[in-house]
Amino acid sequence: PIDMKTLLNQIREDLLDAYKDIHPEFQIGETPEIYGDSTMISQVFSNLLGNALKYSSKTDKPLVQVTGSAEQDAILYTVVDNGIGMDPRHTGNLFNLFYRLPGASNYEGTGLGLAIVKRIIEKHQGQLWFETEQNKGTRFYIRLKKVEQPELV
Ligand code: ATP
Ligand code: MG
Repeated sequence: PIDMKTLLNQIREDLLDAYKDIHPEFQIGETPEIYGDSTMISQVFSNLLGNALKYSSKTDKPLVQVTGSAEQDAILYTVVDNGIGMDPRHTGNLFNLFYRLPGASNYEGTGLGLAIVKRIIEKHQGQLWFETEQNKGTRFYIRLKKVEQPELV
């Protein structure tokens, strides 16, 4: 199993270092272990948490939260931010390569992070979805099956 506490603390350290002029609040809640490829899972969380920080970095008091919980046969993680959010009319292609929302041009990026996240979660036979509200924030959900040696497809 992947030690999510260590993994998330490492990502937080790296991100807070990159955003040290902004002093965002970065809360890590429960960190249940998950199963899978640790390099790929690390990429998932650094992309989602990196987005959460980036797209809240120009708001009043940037806040990023990540927490996990155990379900019957799965672990559910959520990544929450209070950033710019997304217009639901523009999220249909969110997981496509190079897709960026119109408002994203004020922030650096190439539109690859979420496409990679999506592929990695699919490879683990997990689920990925989100809720968002413009100018309020965004919440991503990651659900991964509790399987000791998951088959990567
Ligand atoms: P890259 O990740 O390649 O550096 P990126 O962040 O623009 O660039 P993605 O991570 O794939 O690309 O995200 C795609 C688009 O989705 C972003 O350009 C942005 O418009 C929107 N987006 C993603 N995460 C958030 C978020 N937490 N809040 C608001 N918008 C977001
Ligand atoms: Mg990104």
